[in-house]
Amino acid sequence: MSRRRRKITWPTEPRAQSGAAGTASSVSFSSRALDASARASSGESCGARSAITPALPSTNGAPTALASPHLLALSGIGDGAQLQRLGIPVAAHLPGVGRNLQDHWNAPFALRVTPDSSLNHRLRGWRKYLEGARYLATRGGFLAMGSSAVSAYVRSTPDRPQPDLQLAIRPMTSQFLPGGKVEIDPLPGISGACVLVHPDSRGELRTASPDPMADPEFHPNYLDDPGDVRRLISGIRLMRKVLGAAPIATRIEAELAPGTGLETDEALEGYIRGSGGTSWHPVGTCKMGRDPMAVVDPRLRVHGIAGLRVADASVMPRIIGGNTHAPTVMIAEKAADLVRGETGRA
Ligand SMILES: Cc1cc2nc3c(=O)[nH]c(=O)nc-3n(C[C@H](O)[C@H](O)[C@H](O)COP(=O)(O)OP(=O)(O)OC[C@H]3O[C@@H](n4cnc5c(N)ncnc54)[C@H](O)[C@@H]3O)c2cc1C
Repeated sequence: MSRRRRKITWPTEPRAQSGAAGTASSVSFSSRALDASARASSGESCGARSAITPALPSTNGAPTALASPHLLALSGIGDGAQLQRLGIPVAAHLPGVGRNLQDHWNAPFALRVTPDSSLNHRLRGWRKYLEGARYLATRGGFLAMGSSAVSAYVRSTPDRPQPDLQLAIRPMTSQFLPGGKVEIDPLPGISGACVLVHPDSRGELRTASPDPMADPEFHPNYLDDPGDVRRLISGIRLMRKVLGAAPIATRIEAELAPGTGLETDEALEGYIRGSGGTSWHPVGTCKMGRDPMAVVDPRLRVHGIAGLRVADASVMPRIIGGNTHAPTVMIAEKAADLVRGETGRA
């Protein structure tokens, strides 16, 4: 289904701020909304994009780490030289917009286990309908479980200051089919992933055209830092060590992935690069801080633009060492408190 984009002037259409009314293609603001510092650094006639004065005390955007920097750039907030090359009038020179992209790369693994050690047979064929009914009747059963029943946060090497790997284990194995369907495997299996939770690689989301219908360029640069690959290789070896220890070792019949044939660093690196993937946790592209690459200040206000906040996963300066949903909700709650405090609303 094609999504129609329409231009939304956020300050005057509060409903659009939730993202519920449509897809915003830029943020409009008046010259009065620009801080003096932004005017000085932009070298452009500020306010050229719009003559609308915000009707609300502040405007808040939350389109996520892969959309917020694009929206800011289309609105003239970003790297001044890049924006000028695209013919976008510069409202605020903030070179950090779209930079500092971080995500959790993971290397999957799968094992064939004894039949009583896997939920596969309970979640496929006619039995899956039974599980569905059980969930509807009791809100319990296997469908009420989180996907990763067991998680360990571990250090790739003892000298790491904090755990930098997550070893997640699921009591089932599955395949993604074309069209997005997931099918549980017929064999008894368990699976999981070794997740790099504190990557050193940094990517970038770059606006490539002033046309809001054009997609931005995505340069995730996963595994760019050689240390990231080394840490994931350690993680796979650690995972094998854990699964090779009693009592779980007595339930394992074969390593299906990466596969026992893959032992050397080179072979494991090939597996990590070729079979690994994103954990869908992009953050950091409008990072919070006070350094020259920061986009928002500690109160989530866009530097140099009065009355504009970003409140989503893009503001995390450094990716959290775990899943990103809960901290993003925390950011949103904090943003709501800040806005309420500012407007005096209870
Ligand atoms: C497949 C998948 C699985 C995940 N699993 C987990 C998990 O198990 N645990 C976990 O903690 N996290 C998980 N995450 C990550 C988690 O969903 C995100 O970290 C979190 O949702 C980020 O919140 P956000 O507000 O930044 O972005 P989102 O939740 O993506 O919200 C952004 C909103 O803005 C809207 N929007 C985007 N562009 C525009 C625009 N131009 N104009 C108007 N509106 C716009 C979008 O439609 C969307 O409603 C998963 C993510 C994915 C994709």
